[in-house]
Amino acid sequence: MNHEEQDEFGLVHQGFENRSGESWLKGPVILSWEDVRLDSRENLEGRNVVLHEFAHKLDGVNGSTNGLPPLPAGMDRRVWHDVFVRAYEALCREVDSGGFSSIDPYAATSPAEFFAVATEYFFTAPLVLERRFPEVFEQLSLFYLGRVGYSNFLESDWRHFQSLA
Ligand SMILES: [Zn+2]
Repeated sequence: MNHEEQDEFGLVHQGFENRSGESWLKGPVILSWEDVRLDSRENLEGRNVVLHEFAHKLDGVNGSTNGLPPLPAGMDRRVWHDVFVRAYEALCREVDSGGFSSIDPYAATSPAEFFAVATEYFFTAPLVLERRFPEVFEQLSLFYLGRVGYSNFLESDWRHFQSLA
């Protein structure tokens, strides 16, 4: 299957070849077990179908999957929006120019995919994300960890992470 964007059912699809997962807006997350196994075995930079689909799930908690999930208290929606729009547009320019793209070009498909792919990088290749999109990295740190900076994943980070769902 190769959906490119969200359809009328709220289905958002990841387009990596040979990798599949689906996240329904008000339904289940569907994952290909083979891809989950492959991801955990290969630990590829910026690729993890579980993180990707659950990012869509978090994104859709407020009713639309658009790259703007409900934010924890203390975070600023306007800052998030501006940071992500700037980064998304910068990536789109990279991809349009046909040259090297700093993160997976699939992120340039839509703001929702940008958020999902950035989430994959945040957990699997944080330094790549931090170097190219430091402001996105900071917003994702606040979102997923409740603090700026990324060191060892702490017990308190896990509790914060669980509270998002
Ligand atoms: Zn996706």
